[in-house]
Amino acid sequence: MAPENPTPTPRAAERALHDFALDLRWSWNHATDALWRQINPECWDHTQNPWTTLNNASHAHLKALLGKPAFRREVGQALAARAERLRRPTWFSRTHPDAPLSCVAYFSMEYMLSEALPIYSGGLGNVAGDQLKAASDLGVPVVAVGLLFAQGYFRQELTPDGRQQALYPFNDPSLLPVSPVLTEEGDVLRIPIHFGTGHVWVRAWKAVVGRATLYLLDTNDPANPPGVRCVTTQLYGGDADLRLRQEITLGIAGWRLLDRLGYRPEVCHLNEGHAAFAAVERARGLMEQLRIPFRQALTIARAGTLFTTHTAVPAGFDRFPPTLIGTYLSDYVQKRLDIPLDGLLALGRADPGDRNEPFNMAWLAIRASGAVNGVSRLHGTVSRRLFAPLFPRWPEAEVPVGHVTNGVHTPSWDSIEADTLWTEAAGAERWRGTQEGLAERIRALDDRTLWTTRAQARAAFIRKVAAICARQQGYAGDGGAADLPVPALSPDVLTLGFARRFATYKRPDLLLHDPDRLARLLSHPERPMQLVLAGKAHPADMAGQELITRWIAFSRRPDVRGRVVFMPDYDMALAQILVQGVDLWINTPRRPWEASGTSGMKVLVNGGLNLSELDGWWAEAYAPEVGWALGDGREHGEDPAMDAAEAETMYTLLESEIAPSFYARDAQGIPSAWVARMRESMARLTPLFSANRVVRDYTDRFYLPAAARYRARLADGGQAAHAIVQWQDRLDAGWPALRIDAVTISEPDGQRQVAVALFLGPVPADAVLVQLYADPLDDGPPSVTTIPPCGCRDADGLAHYALTTGLDRPATDYTVRVIPARGDAAIPLESAHIAWQR
Ligand SMILES: *Cc1c(COP(=O)(O)O)cnc(C)c1O
Repeated sequence: MAPENPTPTPRAAERALHDFALDLRWSWNHATDALWRQINPECWDHTQNPWTTLNNASHAHLKALLGKPAFRREVGQALAARAERLRRPTWFSRTHPDAPLSCVAYFSMEYMLSEALPIYSGGLGNVAGDQLKAASDLGVPVVAVGLLFAQGYFRQELTPDGRQQALYPFNDPSLLPVSPVLTEEGDVLRIPIHFGTGHVWVRAWKAVVGRATLYLLDTNDPANPPGVRCVTTQLYGGDADLRLRQEITLGIAGWRLLDRLGYRPEVCHLNEGHAAFAAVERARGLMEQLRIPFRQALTIARAGTLFTTHTAVPAGFDRFPPTLIGTYLSDYVQKRLDIPLDGLLALGRADPGDRNEPFNMAWLAIRASGAVNGVSRLHGTVSRRLFAPLFPRWPEAEVPVGHVTNGVHTPSWDSIEADTLWTEAAGAERWRGTQEGLAERIRALDDRTLWTTRAQARAAFIRKVAAICARQQGYAGDGGAADLPVPALSPDVLTLGFARRFATYKRPDLLLHDPDRLARLLSHPERPMQLVLAGKAHPADMAGQELITRWIAFSRRPDVRGRVVFMPDYDMALAQILVQGVDLWINTPRRPWEASGTSGMKVLVNGGLNLSELDGWWAEAYAPEVGWALGDGREHGEDPAMDAAEAETMYTLLESEIAPSFYARDAQGIPSAWVARMRESMARLTPLFSANRVVRDYTDRFYLPAAARYRARLADGGQAAHAIVQWQDRLDAGWPALRIDAVTISEPDGQRQVAVALFLGPVPADAVLVQLYADPLDDGPPSVTTIPPCGCRDADGLAHYALTTGLDRPATDYTVRVIPARGDAAIPLESAHIAWQR
């Protein structure tokens, strides 16, 4: 050990500390925690932020520490451990040693990685941050791009009467765990882009996330005019004009930055449509590199682009007036893409010819992508409905949107108690491989171990809540402090958690439907409950803010005072405390508007259980052995009668199933039925709803095939893409003349014979497929069988096709259709023609 692990010099140790503090791996791995406490205990205990801890350390104290060989040895050990870790093979290097994939560029408007880098609002940032961390764990080569918001999303304070105050503290980049991106000469790197004809300088910052890198762009360069400097000030603030300029910055400057830094990604992953201009700029780069026109370049780029959609409602898509697109992009489109502005606008319209249609970023993203997915099974179905207008006359089941259900980065959300439990049961490497065998190991844990861990985590949670509230009250002005209910939580009481954005579709008031009934449940003499809440409402959402006020008023009722705690400023740090501590996580969205939801997944590793609407992830995770469900698995819009019925179900479940299960103790004082659910929820659901599973899914099902297709289209100066463009043009020109002339179905001798005569007109026979189609019988896929050609065209120019099949379903179920065909193209993404038998 000794020769390869020498004690570093004070200078080397200081440099190492600097590097450790800038690697956000500390947000999920706690190997260096002890070092930070020695450097600046007060700041560390307060913030758990190594960068702040290091920057606020006393120089004299740090120097003295660095003078001590024992401290330097500790630093040396951490350095050696890191070097060892980086040398070790990863899941990706072991599983895909000769992959055609060297780099995935991941684009997202927000990233939730740590409270130390507050550039997120909620779920979308959570997905991006957790997947980036899992990519690091698994060794999947991802480089991420986002924006460095000077004020992030708003911070929340509450007045004693429950009104939300929106605050915007400033993120000084020099105090964030990021470093400026410099040129080879050590100068500040500035990426030039244009808003209209106006020149804009974009700066870049680098955040290290274990093996992965996140680049963050901002426009707050003093060389820019004030209006431009403010473009990256606030996340989800401002109007369409500001949003468009943010998205131009993210997509265009983002792709240029990667190019400038020498990245050559085969795959571009668009996390939501915000970043779709990245695909356009990627095509522009290919135009320049290969001297080819825009359409051909986009055809190459498309093969290597994946679009993940996150919304369940059309209003969730960003839409811009065409004139606004013209203002900011017409110069770029005409001079750089060398196409008329309408050529770009058409990509953002459902009907390319409709000049009044707004420019929809999700439509652009689809048209620029070779694969599209939603974020849960149900959301896949909902998304196929939302995107159906782009694929007229295609059956909804064949709208080309799949799904990858979200998951969370388990090590970022587990408590110390849970981490210890899982490490003992399944080893330290458990989240870095395929998670095989994890479920069995958790199922082997005995009741006592599980219950003790849960009790310890609940007790720790209650101490944290008390400490946070005491601190907040210390800051409250006259009249405020005395007025805020002081939490009086008990470590033995069933603890419920509810925290999320206070958007009306999440129904944060469903629990409050009958306040008296809720109060009676909470203060039950034998089976009491306590409830901890948190959530922000968008500053423009008055209805959402009103719901917060109602909860604060409820928490003041004398009969629940102290048992209901509304914690202000729901953020990642608070979310971690909540999901680690509570016994039951409640989620009440209106189906199907929660695309996935992730907060309920965060309690799984910690042994918390879920009581949730059958929406998003819970619609596919729920089983009676792992938790409780609300709703009937159908959609009811905003029907108040349904809200009332669901509230009633929730109260009844809490009263007659959940609380009795929690309080029914065996001779050892253990609630064995409750623990059985905990065990099954942990074992079955934690691995399944982990970002580890998600990133492996994306890699195997999307990144690797996309990389191969991209490379094939890029080869030989983009020959294949050229052929695809010609094929599309031929189909576009010939399709109006194509018609199914005659279909005959006969059923001799227990067989079905289908014969089709097709008039192809100018369409080449090998550019289409003739198919026998029947609608799905249940939830399954439709029945589609290819009808092969028989013989050549006859004198009338008709092509003939014939098929013999068995007699399964009645002949009237079937119809004949013609669709585009081409082995190396994505259909119907790249050609959405379809002709049906009349
Ligand atoms: C996990 C998380 C979310 C997303 O939660 P959902 O309610 O499931 O959408 C939002 N905000 C914070 C702070 C989170 O930690």
